[in-house]
Amino acid sequence: MIFDSDYTLTIGGEGVAGASSFDVLNPANETVIAQAPDASRQQLDQAVAAARAAFPAWSATPIAERRKAVLALAGAMFANVEALLSLLTREQGKPHADARNDVLGGAMWLQGATTLDLPETVNEDSDTRRSITRHIPIGVVGAIAPWNFPVVLAMFKLAPALVAGNTVVLKPSPFTPLTTLKIGELARSVLPPGVLNVVSGGDALGPWMTSHPGIDKISFTGSTQTGRKVMASAADSLKRITLELGGNDAAIVLPDVDVKKVAEDLFWAAFRNSGQICIASKRMYVHKDVYEPLKQALVDYAATVKMGDGADQGTQLGPIQNKQQHQRVLELIEDARAQGYQFLTGGEGSSAPGYFVPITILDNPPEDSRIVQEEQFGPILPLLKVDSIEEAIERANTSEYGLGASVWSSDTAAALAVGQRLQAGTVWINETQHLSPLVSFAGLKQSGLGVENGLDGLLEYTNTQTIVVRKG
Ligand code: NAD
Repeated sequence: MIFDSDYTLTIGGEGVAGASSFDVLNPANETVIAQAPDASRQQLDQAVAAARAAFPAWSATPIAERRKAVLALAGAMFANVEALLSLLTREQGKPHADARNDVLGGAMWLQGATTLDLPETVNEDSDTRRSITRHIPIGVVGAIAPWNFPVVLAMFKLAPALVAGNTVVLKPSPFTPLTTLKIGELARSVLPPGVLNVVSGGDALGPWMTSHPGIDKISFTGSTQTGRKVMASAADSLKRITLELGGNDAAIVLPDVDVKKVAEDLFWAAFRNSGQICIASKRMYVHKDVYEPLKQALVDYAATVKMGDGADQGTQLGPIQNKQQHQRVLELIEDARAQGYQFLTGGEGSSAPGYFVPITILDNPPEDSRIVQEEQFGPILPLLKVDSIEEAIERANTSEYGLGASVWSSDTAAALAVGQRLQAGTVWINETQHLSPLVSFAGLKQSGLGVENGLDGLLEYTNTQTIVVRKG
């Protein structure tokens, strides 16, 4: 199979050329690297029809067989990891090591979902009646993915949807469609036709999916703003929805922390993937007793980190993924400069090609500043000094978001006590961003609706059905 050209939609198990095409750029140098198929409305209809046609047989296939097919897709990804990761770096910008994790993570998510079981509850089993509650597949799932982790976040959806017996129409972001289209191509030889359809396209394609009468559920990962539109659009046909949305995660650093030990981890908590992670630490509340040494340690470490083209050896941070996001990040930096906030490092622009933004750390900007209140989604971190742990908890919890949070301390029990008071779907102590296909992941407040991963995540791809049998 060729990975660096010939990108086609996957519809009903076949490769299909797009009705038209659009450019895909390498964000490290802004050159066009490929033409991606732009699916027409009619092609979306065909993909949905193929998924509907495949649903009766796939949902009736024993779960053990479905698991085997999902594992075969994971196997195909493992077997082609080198080709997939280099394609992913070219379209997404992330360094090869991170691209490898995205692809391997995607394959491992497929594997992980196959270890989950759909529970059945016996409500009553008496002389007169047997009542059970079980979980049945919903139908056709429309899966919509973002550009920051194109592979693994698509697999967050695909893996449980398929194991639970649904068929899928998957749409990658128009900024990063290529690797997903190739995974669709790999799937053609391991999944029955129509079980997985992959469509790429422009801005109209997502709304066509969320309003499509043939799609029963939408599983969406992206911004909170788009999530609201998805929810409104799904209302007409009462589609089931799962929304994984934006975040503005707080990291709280307690006064007893060993600065030398945690500085590097805190750096990567904020800057991995150039800050383009929904669960990146985007506000760091540091107790005044350790503020100065931690500030220095972060700045010193930042100076050692290499930013550049993800395909170059030794690159640790890549560019911002697309022009739109690049402009937004630069605008936030401009706002911080205009307000007179202090930059500890970074903050300057570059005229070289590529959507690069240098590692930028701000020294204690006000709580109500845009850089603190808004999700930056770029390599910028506001470092915030707090007088007390109570103040840190209060400020962390005032955000409209509630995706993740972390607490850092030499005293695990003290950190846990703080963590339990944070309004976030996942709270980590002395680490961040640890996710598993077997562990529930959910956003509180404006960060989402529903759950991904784990048994809770699997159940989101099912309807609940109770069967009551009268005896005698
Ligand atoms: P986005 O909302 O712009 O786009 C996400 C996807 O939705 C893309 O495939 C896009 O084409 C599609 N889309 C756009 N408009 C649509 C519409 N009206 N209807 C249906 N689909 C539409 O998000 P993005 O910029 O690709 O991703 C960045 C955002 O995603 C950040 O806010 C980040 O925090 C969030 N995110 C959340 C999680 C999570 O698990 N909670 C994970 C990763 C990213």
